[in-house]
Amino acid sequence: MNSNGGRDIFQKIIDHEIPAEILMEDEQCIVIRDINPGAPIHVLIIPKKNIPRLAEAQESDVPILGHLLLMAQKFAQTQGLSKGFRVVINNGPDAGESVPHLHIHLLAGKPMIWPPC
Ligand code: 5GP
Repeated sequence: MNSNGGRDIFQKIIDHEIPAEILMEDEQCIVIRDINPGAPIHVLIIPKKNIPRLAEAQESDVPILGHLLLMAQKFAQTQGLSKGFRVVINNGPDAGESVPHLHIHLLAGKPMIWPPC
């Protein structure tokens, strides 16, 4: 549930109510292709537990936070991303957060610049 008592778009994807290209899934998270990719490979690693954003994660969320990163690693391995990949979490309006359900972006498939903004 979000602060309005409704379910966010990622929760509806997790519940298979709206379609998405689900590339990996386990009991704790899903990996979907981003609908508006910013790189040749752009996926979102999304916990099934609705943590709204990183700033609201709790000490009890340490295992799921670690699991999400290892899922990113696993995805990169399955895709053979030996030339590199980037993981990003946008937290809050200044960072460009648009969906209030924690997710990690994984981008790859082209050389990227730093800093990104
Ligand atoms: P944020 O801006 O919150 O960090 O990232 C949200 C991401 O979710 C954006 O990159 C956006 O393109 C993606 N997104 C938003 N709605 C959908 C959707 O319905 N399906 C998929 N696959 N991605 C979505």
